Amino acid sequence: MVCSNCNKHLSKKELNYSVKNYGKILCRECQKQYGPLKNKHKLRKEKSTEIAIKLYESLIKMGFNAKLEKWDGHKHIDIAIPDKKVNIEIDGLHHSYNKKQALTDLKRTFYSWKKRYVTLRIPNPLIKENAYETAGYVKKFLEASAEKLEEELKAEARKGEIKLRRKK
Ligand SMILES: [Zn+2]
Repeated sequence: MVCSNCNKHLSKKELNYSVKNYGKILCRECQKQYGPLKNKHKLRKEKSTEIAIKLYESLIKMGFNAKLEKWDGHKHIDIAIPDKKVNIEIDGLHHSYNKKQALTDLKRTFYSWKKRYVTLRIPNPLIKENAYETAGYVKKFLEASAEKLEEELKAEARKGEIKLRRKK
């Protein structure tokens, strides 16, 4: 597990401490830049980060190059799989019940889509109850989008060939 800010390696103990107190995966140096979480937000963030780690670990076991808490220039993505152009956001129940939050989520999805990233939003109780099964569906999704990427690359290569032939 690495620091979401500087990619420095963290021990399991450091990781647990950081998740508990900062709601993020940060090394000791980077923790100084962030204030510790206020109690009100602490429990919720701690729980959601724990759940994200569960899914993340399943995806790593399945052989995907997943990144936890990846910074996209605007905010941290819960789990990103950059080589598949897929972002995963794990939502608490407040995401669907709070109108303002729902609108923010939609804007974020649009922002990612403009960069050709697909965002999967997964409610956290689903992962909490069955992380491995959820990861199984995410896997199918990732494989399907990988196939699509491959097809696109092949199509581009074919176009390239056509261009080459025309030049001759
Ligand atoms: Zn760091």
